[in-house]
Amino acid sequence: MTEPNTGSDLAAIKTTAAEKGGDIIINGQKTFISNGINCDLLVLAARDPAIENPYQAIGLYLVEAGTPGFEKGKKIKKIGWKGQDTAELFFSDCRIPAGNRLGEKGGGFMMLVQKLQQERLMCCIIAVAAAERMLEMTIPYCKERKAFGKPISKFQNTQFKIVEMATEIKLGRTFLDKLIMDHAEGKNIVVEVSMAKYWTTEMAMRVADQCLQLHGGYGYCEEYPIARAWRDTRVMSIFAGTNEIMKTIAAKFMGL
Ligand SMILES: Cc1cc2nc3c(=O)[nH]c(=O)nc-3n(C[C@H](O)[C@H](O)[C@H](O)COP(=O)(O)OP(=O)(O)OC[C@H]3O[C@@H](n4cnc5c(N)ncnc54)[C@H](O)[C@@H]3O)c2cc1C
Repeated sequence: MTEPNTGSDLAAIKTTAAEKGGDIIINGQKTFISNGINCDLLVLAARDPAIENPYQAIGLYLVEAGTPGFEKGKKIKKIGWKGQDTAELFFSDCRIPAGNRLGEKGGGFMMLVQKLQQERLMCCIIAVAAAERMLEMTIPYCKERKAFGKPISKFQNTQFKIVEMATEIKLGRTFLDKLIMDHAEGKNIVVEVSMAKYWTTEMAMRVADQCLQLHGGYGYCEEYPIARAWRDTRVMSIFAGTNEIMKTIAAKFMGL
């Protein structure tokens, strides 16, 4: 989906998929594509230049790696998630068969709207699981690390912070488990998952920051896993739709 000049505003994508002689010709550019370097098969969002209304123009197309005109660009250097490749992709008169269109012609936007809630649910799962793990790493550290002659877990501030984090994580887990069940039952969870994506990822970011603080200077060192967890958590409010966009979706569906 994402292009250099548009991420949040999906309707503004510029990559074109034009019908020509029974084939589809793709031109344009994508960026921030997870696993773009490793991919063998790509699901590409592109617009039919013959249709003006962006909501009807967007389609989803299957493009195989190695198709002439499809080039993988550089692996983007990120501050976290270094194990995952994030790529730029380029399309120049890339010809694919019309049969590579997924679903109905012009149905891409609706397919994305329907399925992106599942991606956001996965993002909540990552956020809650990460927060649980960061607290699990931090509690033993606080019990072992001593200051002023006693474990730092004996300071009231440490106890309050840990209890506050544990409470937030449990709230997130409860909300998340309910959404997983609702989603599995086929219910529409678009409002709740938008709320949960923004809230659980911001909760994970708060937990990451507080857990790092409780590690003191060691939290800022690469050899302590909390340092990497803190870096990796930061992106969660950005990808899968920014948290601001989550609030605009919830507001819209709440009739505001
Ligand atoms: C590690 C990583 C992996 C990614 N993987 C993928 C992938 O696999 N596929 C893919 O398609 N994309 C992927 N993305 C892209 C990601 O989805 C976009 O970065 C994200 O949607 C934001 O788009 P943008 O970066 O263009 O920011 P912009 O849209 O330029 O937003 C910039 C800021 O403006 C705010 N903003 C924009 N519009 C509004 C509004 N209406 N109201 C209030 N605030 C607004 C945003 O919330 C944000 O804070 C990935 C990104 C990263 C960092």
